Amino acid sequence: MVYLGRSYRRGSGLADRAVKTLDVCPFHRNHSNMRSTLGPRSGAHAFRAMRFALDPNNKQRGALASHAGAARYAYNLGLEWLIDAIERRRLGADESVPNAAAMHLRWNRWKRDPANGAGWWSNNSKCVYQEAFRDLEHAFNSFVASRRARPHGKRFGFPRFKCKGRGCDRFRLSGVFHVGKRWVQLPNLGRIRVHEDASKFMTHLKSGRARITTATITRQADRWYVNFRVVRTKRVPERRTGGAVIGVDVGINALATLSNGELVVGPKALAASLHKLRRLSKAHSRKRLKSLNRRRSAQKLARCYARISSVRLDHLHKLSTYLAKNHAQIVIEDLSVQGMMSNRRLARSIADAGWAELFAMLEYKCRWYGSSLIKASRWFASTRTCSSCGVIKDSLPLAVRVFDCAACGLTLDRDLNAAKNLAQWPKVAASASETQNACRGNVRPGPRRADPDEAGTEQSIGDIRLGAQRTSVGLQTDSIGPNEGRVASGI
Ligand SMILES: [Zn+2]
Repeated sequence: MVYLGRSYRRGSGLADRAVKTLDVCPFHRNHSNMRSTLGPRSGAHAFRAMRFALDPNNKQRGALASHAGAARYAYNLGLEWLIDAIERRRLGADESVPNAAAMHLRWNRWKRDPANGAGWWSNNSKCVYQEAFRDLEHAFNSFVASRRARPHGKRFGFPRFKCKGRGCDRFRLSGVFHVGKRWVQLPNLGRIRVHEDASKFMTHLKSGRARITTATITRQADRWYVNFRVVRTKRVPERRTGGAVIGVDVGINALATLSNGELVVGPKALAASLHKLRRLSKAHSRKRLKSLNRRRSAQKLARCYARISSVRLDHLHKLSTYLAKNHAQIVIEDLSVQGMMSNRRLARSIADAGWAELFAMLEYKCRWYGSSLIKASRWFASTRTCSSCGVIKDSLPLAVRVFDCAACGLTLDRDLNAAKNLAQWPKVAASASETQNACRGNVRPGPRRADPDEAGTEQSIGDIRLGAQRTSVGLQTDSIGPNEGRVASGI
């Protein structure tokens, strides 16, 4: 069994390689995915995150908040040192910018100096400070790397100071962890109850097939979660070839239309809670600053946001698992979701649908289940092409929800026609003489560009869903119960 050791941490060259194989699915109530992909003892190692909602008592809540505050303090202090060092370098001093190890050494001297008044440091696990400095180093390195990579690559800004009450409280622990049926034992914090049954995870740990490396504790609204980073041996699934190809056309009215005629209607979590959100936001804005009532209303508002996020994620997990498990090849459009969100009329609906999250989930789940994810060029006119005879229409306004082909007489729902065309994309791409332009971008195989806002429309589809049927794969959107923040189950 091959386990990753401590040297595979973030920030090292080895970690960069390891991160590429990172498989993270934080929502596994029943761990069904974990069980299904466990293979023989000898195999590749893979990371996976196991997330549990904690159920701490009042004393433990205080300790969790204290640890989160300590992590924030160390991060801010390290950032001060970092900025000072950069400033001195700018003035000509021969000094290197401190890395996490240097900051930790300085912290060990600093905390013992009575003049600094940091006697509270021993209340929290020492890992919290170390990991905060590592986070800061990673943030700074990302900033430097992104400046060098301009204009390509993801952009990262200079690390910013963390503020209490703004953003997410989080800290990371390393060391020895234990997991029981309904509890987890964390260094320095002791045993904390968890909301769901952790028996299966406990069994995997005991059998030696999985090992916890670190635990990140986060707070969302008023609920605490623990995310275990787990290394486990994993049978590399054989890539399924020659199986069913499915085209997935994402949209707003229906989250996904599949080329086999199935229609997946998204929960539209934000739209469903918008009225409540508005009422709570208004009530919050009327509360006096720094009052207890204001704090309470902020909690209510945060819970509402957390529920919206949970409902959306739950549905996306179920859909992506269904697609990746049951189809050998999945074809999606290579959409620029961020670019499409610049459309003011559509941005909220697109964000509510969660396309980018769905695509990200599909990417790692296809690796889990041995299926292939194929991205069709964004210039492929999937909507305007007839899926039967291949004739491309000059235009197809967004208001027209039915595709009528004058050449062959096909009459089909617009999205279903697009999904069928996407399913044919692998053949189209294989037959195209050239698939990349000089800038390494995909060139369109067809003669015309698709409409930039092709995949997302606000038009009412009414009852016209020719050939499309609602899918019955158990994609309920109301599966999150009273404990809405709970980890939701997959299919
Ligand atoms: Zn036709």
